[in-house]
Amino acid sequence: THFGFKSVSENEKAGKVGEVFHSVAKKYDLMNDVMSAGLHRTWKRFAVEVSGVRKGDRVLDVAGGSGDLSKLFAKKVGPEGEVVLTDINASMLGVGRDRMADEGFAIPALQCDAEKLPFPDQYFDCVIVAFGLRNMTHKDKALAEMQRVLKIGGRLLVLEFSQVWKPLAPLYDAYSFKLLPLMGKLFAKDAYSYQYLAESIRMHPDQETLRQMMIDAGLAKVDYYNLSAGVVALHKGWKI
Ligand code: SAM
Repeated sequence: THFGFKSVSENEKAGKVGEVFHSVAKKYDLMNDVMSAGLHRTWKRFAVEVSGVRKGDRVLDVAGGSGDLSKLFAKKVGPEGEVVLTDINASMLGVGRDRMADEGFAIPALQCDAEKLPFPDQYFDCVIVAFGLRNMTHKDKALAEMQRVLKIGGRLLVLEFSQVWKPLAPLYDAYSFKLLPLMGKLFAKDAYSYQYLAESIRMHPDQETLRQMMIDAGLAKVDYYNLSAGVVALHKGWKI
């Protein structure tokens, strides 16, 4: 499989991704704001609105990292609902746990691999994975797991970088391959991780391919929104 600027075996990929997120964990929130000029907050709020989640619902945040979405969903479902934050990476989850505690959220944070979710079938009303799927070695397995834990009538949301509107591609390439690693070096003293980010975005399936992957994983009525000219896409599919 492809990782950053070189090809690695599938076994190696998970380890390398682990190193990247361990390395960026402490600066992760700052870098999100810097690199997206704060836009990631808008994309996340949009995803929560599109989810249609209501008071009392159960929501699973897969690859939730520092927990931005878990917090937004916790406000939506209220005390009668349930939100679970999960991530494979202990360092990212540690940052998430600290932030939850500091801000007074009682959200359980569980370390697990999206490819093997430790939840029963048909448990959640909504499952979301934001900027996480592209890091996973077996995306098909992860999508199938997310489908499995959804209730009938539940929905899966995938928020992820996608294929940008063609006329903007040269500008976007210059931004992600030149400016991103430079910002990574300046702000996080870590150019390598931000090179990985740029490359992993480029390798990720485009809008239509991801739509088909979700259908193959058993989701129905799959559709997507292009956000910020396709820099990001929000896919939504139902379990029926
Ligand atoms: N969802 C958060 C957000 O939107 O800010 C965090 C996104 S962060 C870019 C990607 C996360 O995916 C990292 O925290 C990483 O540890 C996690 N991740 C990568 N592979 C994973 C896997 N197989 N299972 C669960 N989480 C994974």
